[in-house]
Amino acid sequence: KVRVRFAPSPTGPLHIGGVRTALFNYLFAKKHGGDFVLRIEDTDQNRYVAGAEDYIVESLNWCGIPFDEGPEKNEKLGPYRQSERKHLYKQYADQLIANGKAYYAFDTSEQLDAHRKDHEIKGKTFIYNWHNRKKGRLVNSLVLSEEETKAKLSAGEHYVVRFKSPQDETLHLKDIIRGDISIDTNVLDDKILFKSDGMPTYHLANIVDDHLMEITHVIRGEEWLPSLALHQLLYDAFGWDAPEFAHLPLILKPTGKGKLSKRDGDKMGFPVFPLEYKAPDGTISRGYKEDGYFPEAVVNFLAFLGWNPGTEQEIFSLEDLIKHFDLERVNKAGARFDPDKTKWFNHHYMQQQLDLDLAKEFQVKNILLADVDINYITLVVGLIKERATFVSDFWELSHFFFVAPIDYDEKASKKAIKEDTADILSKVAELVNATDDFTVENLQTNIKGWITSNDIGFGKVMMPLRLALVGALQGPDVFDIMFMIGKRETIKRIEALVK
Ligand code: GLU
Repeated sequence: KVRVRFAPSPTGPLHIGGVRTALFNYLFAKKHGGDFVLRIEDTDQNRYVAGAEDYIVESLNWCGIPFDEGPEKNEKLGPYRQSERKHLYKQYADQLIANGKAYYAFDTSEQLDAHRKDHEIKGKTFIYNWHNRKKGRLVNSLVLSEEETKAKLSAGEHYVVRFKSPQDETLHLKDIIRGDISIDTNVLDDKILFKSDGMPTYHLANIVDDHLMEITHVIRGEEWLPSLALHQLLYDAFGWDAPEFAHLPLILKPTGKGKLSKRDGDKMGFPVFPLEYKAPDGTISRGYKEDGYFPEAVVNFLAFLGWNPGTEQEIFSLEDLIKHFDLERVNKAGARFDPDKTKWFNHHYMQQQLDLDLAKEFQVKNILLADVDINYITLVVGLIKERATFVSDFWELSHFFFVAPIDYDEKASKKAIKEDTADILSKVAELVNATDDFTVENLQTNIKGWITSNDIGFGKVMMPLRLALVGALQGPDVFDIMFMIGKRETIKRIEALVK
């Protein structure tokens, strides 16, 4: 059975790159009838940010991609917070030491700094690996005798456990998206797996947990590709089957140059977070939710950051995505982030929403609508949403349904008002007044009929009429507006313009 996990570190807000990783995991799991696990990788207490885990959970829920197993949810192979699994990791580090795959190192950070400096002077980079792990002044269980090592351990000296990366081997790694990758083990350093404070590092905890949680596919960002060799070596060292790996392409800035960063959003005026994020210092970064995006739009555009269906189709519901998503169709090349495309998706999903739901939101956000009948607002929304990308566009597009224009657009006035406008509009007001059964159709028949039978230009009537009703020359159909605001208000507005 397919089991995937999303394994964020709670070191701050989840940005859209993280949400994209979660989404691709979710889609892959659901496509194969598998499980989507959330694991919180919080072993690095120094970087822990309070509230980050809640933010992650809320973000996934808002996007509509909830996890099946995770902290406090269906914890059958849990716990799912690494900080609650602390006791578990030491035995695995010990196991690797016992079978010669790892070793104790006692070098202090001052000693390591000194080695780095020595190398720098000679124009070299210091790598803690086969090349020099046994040399000179390094202090580890490969150079010390068994007794010396034991003595240091029982004296409570600080130590780390390092992985003993192999010498002169070529590793053949597989990535679903990138194909076969060869790595020369001589370039690997002996990564730290475990520390004497009892905490595993990311690498050890990640591999042990993926194994214990029976993860079949690891789908994560490209920034983890350099760790793949070590991870494969760790699986081999434990004698475990490794999961399959897929490293998702980078997300690039809108310019296509460089990786999209968390700061780009505020700099360039678009959200990079699913939900608004309040930093500990009080600064607020914008979120898709608060900016008025629909989760369907966010999911749809995220899916296209690195994936495409191979057809022209761009609109995909979550269900469609589950059906069509395929890791084989994920690109290696970086995916350019396009904020305008997200707006385009939002405009699309706006049309799919129920007018009543949009009306309720519109009313909540506009104090002027507090006492307006929700049915009336709903009808207005139906007339204008075609032009709107966000609910926050509604007022600009519809204020004249609720309040008479207080002034008239200057350019529009010049264009619409001619010498005979007053006469024409008085006649229109009469026609409106005489329309007893006040429907869009009757208004249309009466006014258009009068225009044609008197051979007046349409624009000469419709332009000033629109100006009177809206205050500008934009807006939905004039007859719809008249019908909506009613006979008395229509006549009042016409009179206001000609007086
Ligand atoms: N904790 C890592 C992160 O923050 C997980 C990487 C992985 O998926 O292996 O992204």
